[in-house]
Amino acid sequence: MRHLGFSVSIYIELTYSQEPVLWGSPEFMRDEVIRGIMGNKVWNDKKRFIWILSILLLAAFIVTSSISYQVAHDSLSEQIEDNTLPLTSDNIYSEIQQDLLRPIFISSLMAQDTFVRDWTINDEQQPEKLVRYLREIQNKYDTVTSFFVSEASRNYYHSSGVLRKIEDVSNDDAWYFRVRSLPQDEDYEVNIDTDTADKNRTVIYVNYKVYDFEGNFIGVTGVGLAVERVKKLIDLYQTRYNRRVYFSDRQGNIKLHSSGFEGATTLQSSAGLEKLATRILTSPSASFSYHRDNRTIYLNSRLVEEFKWYLMVEQDEVQAEKKLLTTFWINIGLSLVVTLGILFIANMTIGKYQRKLELMASTDKLTGAANRQVFEDYFAQALSRSVVDGTVMSVLILDIDHFKQVNDQYGHNIGDLVIQSAANVLKSHLTDADLLCRWGGEEFLVLLANTNISQANELAEKMRESVAAKTIKVNGSKISVTLSCGVAEHRKTEKPEELVNRADIALYQAKEQGRNQVVLSY
Ligand code: GH3
Ligand code: MG
Ligand code: MG
Repeated sequence: MRHLGFSVSIYIELTYSQEPVLWGSPEFMRDEVIRGIMGNKVWNDKKRFIWILSILLLAAFIVTSSISYQVAHDSLSEQIEDNTLPLTSDNIYSEIQQDLLRPIFISSLMAQDTFVRDWTINDEQQPEKLVRYLREIQNKYDTVTSFFVSEASRNYYHSSGVLRKIEDVSNDDAWYFRVRSLPQDEDYEVNIDTDTADKNRTVIYVNYKVYDFEGNFIGVTGVGLAVERVKKLIDLYQTRYNRRVYFSDRQGNIKLHSSGFEGATTLQSSAGLEKLATRILTSPSASFSYHRDNRTIYLNSRLVEEFKWYLMVEQDEVQAEKKLLTTFWINIGLSLVVTLGILFIANMTIGKYQRKLELMASTDKLTGAANRQVFEDYFAQALSRSVVDGTVMSVLILDIDHFKQVNDQYGHNIGDLVIQSAANVLKSHLTDADLLCRWGGEEFLVLLANTNISQANELAEKMRESVAAKTIKVNGSKISVTLSCGVAEHRKTEKPEELVNRADIALYQAKEQGRNQVVLSY
């Protein structure tokens, strides 16, 4: 074994294990220092990257959500206009046929009744017979009124008796003359009017023409339904189908609607419908949408032949739209969560690599000690702390003796192992409050916080002895090295380079005096 001063058995740690850095610890402070030196740009780049990523992700999510909302909205409009609403209208239409066509049917039976026609032709003898007939009809079919007006006598027969005579000049009786002059192919009309028997009541009348057996007009008969009852029916349809239902006659007058109807009295004066009224009133059925109070209303109209009225079924966009909007907002909410998740992961990943890069930039790869650039900033921080705490700092500079010979003898790689081993020995003597820097090739600087020169001397001696006591076994040979050390205590107002310079001079002296020793600078 070639003896190079001191023998030490060296436990070689080829990989530098990276320990977690605690916040507030000197390592953390050192990392902060590194960030101060070279991290600002990286930090800003990261911030910008995260911003761009968030904006891109959010923009993408908002655009896709909006597009799918728009597509869903369009297909929903189409669906309502072309399918849902016409189908609802069909359903309501068939219910109306069941509920409202019955009075037309009853009136038709009355107009065809041979008793009524025979009785009229035979000079209306014994009016009580017809009155009883009318009463029977009213009771059996539960109508509010039933009537017959004779063309010959102009008597108005009612279930309660002979009421009065129809007069040409009376406005109240205009309906009779209107029915009388209906075209040949129209046998009846449906009309809403005040009740002839009770002026306070509004009644839907079915007025049916009556002919004798030769086809001559002999009067008008029919029944009446209370408007309120029909309104209740409309209410029922409205709640069952969740639609607005009303009726308009062929002129556009809104004849029937539910009790809560808030609309104009004619189609022509209905908000949003003014221009569409003609279209509705000239086609047997139509389906379209219009705008009312800034809302889209879908409308289906169809002519109910038996009434000569248009059945109008309307659907507000809001109902269907609500679901779409909820979906839209759920989408946006999920997008936000996903964006946050991605940002969180991106931030973590970038942060991890950033810390790795920073550590790589700040530490010496071979020994894991800090590198020279870190020293000054760390020194400034340690100094301000020592000023606050009223303590002193000291500096050691350590240099391996005759290191050239190690390289020459064993090669550069083994020389590296020796440097690494020496660094590990030094580290084992230091606390978290101290800083170990690789100052040069085989030269180290130690900054000792809260340490005066005699304490520093003591520590330096221990380090020197430990290094000298360690041997490295390589290819059967044992290598050991010694080191020389210069020590200096920081003087008030002394700059870092001045302090280091003094320690350096002391180191030089140690070398001069034969190496493997510690020299103090006073
Ligand atoms: P002294 O006792 O006066 O310090 O003698 P020395 O041989 O150690 O002299 P000096 O400090 O001037 O020489 C250091 C040598 O260390 C020079 C260089 O080739 C070698 N060296 C510097 N860095 C490294 C390194 O990273 N690895 C290895 N293996 N050798 C290095
Ligand atoms: Mg040397
Ligand atoms: Mg040297």
